[in-house]
Amino acid sequence: LPEKQLIRLIRRQASTRRTAAGVIATGIGDDSAVLRLPSNHEVVVTTDFSLEGTHFRREWHPPRAVGHRCLARGLSDIAAMGGTPLAAFLSLGLPARIPQTWVNDFLRGLLELARKFRVSLAGGDIAQSSVGVLADIVVLGTVPAGRAILRSGAKPGDGIHVTGALGASAATLARLRSQSRARIVPSRHPAHFFPEPRIVVGQFLSKKRLASAMIDVSDGLSTDLAHICEESGVGAVVYGDLIPLGAPAARGLSASPTVRADSATRASALNFALHGGEDYELLFTAPASARVPPRIAGVPITRIGEITRAKKMWLIGAGGRRQWLVSGGWEHFANPGRNKGSR
Ligand SMILES: [Mg+2]
Repeated sequence: LPEKQLIRLIRRQASTRRTAAGVIATGIGDDSAVLRLPSNHEVVVTTDFSLEGTHFRREWHPPRAVGHRCLARGLSDIAAMGGTPLAAFLSLGLPARIPQTWVNDFLRGLLELARKFRVSLAGGDIAQSSVGVLADIVVLGTVPAGRAILRSGAKPGDGIHVTGALGASAATLARLRSQSRARIVPSRHPAHFFPEPRIVVGQFLSKKRLASAMIDVSDGLSTDLAHICEESGVGAVVYGDLIPLGAPAARGLSASPTVRADSATRASALNFALHGGEDYELLFTAPASARVPPRIAGVPITRIGEITRAKKMWLIGAGGRRQWLVSGGWEHFANPGRNKGSR
């Protein structure tokens, strides 16, 4: 489809619904978008790549999921600030020979999620790509002035909390990489193919001033918690038993034939939760005195540890065994000899 026609198609699909607040004064079709922003608010902006071969594979990920994940990455970053998303801008590089149905389904996935969170696709760019599909999403949102939740606010003694469950997306990715990928039905693996950005939870935490620091879990708990610790100048203790495990293996424990298999399964589910990434859950800290509800907007909230003055990250395992929590490192409870940092 020629570029002009493609833009017309996107414009038609994008304009079917606008945000209730009338944020978009002028959207697609002019040189720039013109936005009306609420007074006494600050603008939060994020940009995220979705690159074929790096973030998705056309043979593994259906186009609707690629579109959904593309916008979800940006929305999750807005959620992590406690913000309200308003508008998205999409820059798309497409190979010359890509089927029109692929582009249509990609846009459908992206716009379905946009509609759900009342975000307008307010502009973008399209170009031909010689290296596969390249999508860059910019999401713009607002937060009441001074109320954005930063990574730098965690204090010693604060509790560490996480939304939902961790590791399911990475477990699905591991299966996609393995021989069993032919049996994977995307709709049965929503955490990986259709992650739900925690916008409402982020807004609640900002509004109630509950969180002292926050980040979304995009690179894995061990890496994203390290970002909070670094920016806040603190350390952390995390209890392995408290981490809500999302990997399907964890839920099927009773189906495992032996106790030995159980602990191995649990260890791999924990490993996915600690180091997997692409969970798009929220990881936040809150003062010990803060009343953090067990659920926010239907999403379970779990306290998994606490912030410490010493600038190290520790993982407490079964029986109170301590080991260093290393960002992105492969840690396995079942094999103590390999835990370089344990003592
Ligand atoms: Mg982020």
